[in-house]
Amino acid sequence: MRDDNRRLWAEWVAANVGGDPARQRVALDAALQSLAAGQTSGEAAGAARRAAGGSMQPPPYGQTGAMRCRFCGSVPAVPMTIYEHNGYLVLMQFKNLKGPYCRLCGLHVWRRMTDATLLRGWLGFLSFFIAPITALINLVNLRKLSSLAAPEPGSSVRTPADPGPGMFQRPGVYVYAGVVAVALLIVILPALAGR
Ligand SMILES: [Zn+2]
Repeated sequence: MRDDNRRLWAEWVAANVGGDPARQRVALDAALQSLAAGQTSGEAAGAARRAAGGSMQPPPYGQTGAMRCRFCGSVPAVPMTIYEHNGYLVLMQFKNLKGPYCRLCGLHVWRRMTDATLLRGWLGFLSFFIAPITALINLVNLRKLSSLAAPEPGSSVRTPADPGPGMFQRPGVYVYAGVVAVALLIVILPALAGR
């Protein structure tokens, strides 16, 4: 039964993916692994095409050992969690997104979530204190991404994300600086006036 399945998929790969035997083998393994993971044959076909189209490397979600980016499948990747905090006056929302991340996908997520935290994370009594801590945790963890080499060409199954504009080209830093300035004025001015 299993051998039948394998033979059928080998024929499918020969007809639909083509190329040399090594390439077909990679595509076939990807399809069979996808099926073994409980995916549909449509998804298995997609996995086979991606594996063959991407590179001659073994499929990314196999038991190959090396840690791969959760989003694009490239190496090297680092396990880490990126946090976001949003305050809504009374309510608040904690978000996090776990890797592993390659450098580019990680920076993309890191900038988006850190910017959101600075932009609207502080809006609330507790959030006012939680947001800067959240941003600081991200800042400490940023070293893991920035010390990572760029994704190896050909190791990804889809194009790694664009990290996008830097933090100083986004509104969060400036909005948060303004918030801190206003908060200081509110605390310092009455203190001076009270003398
Ligand atoms: Zn990636």
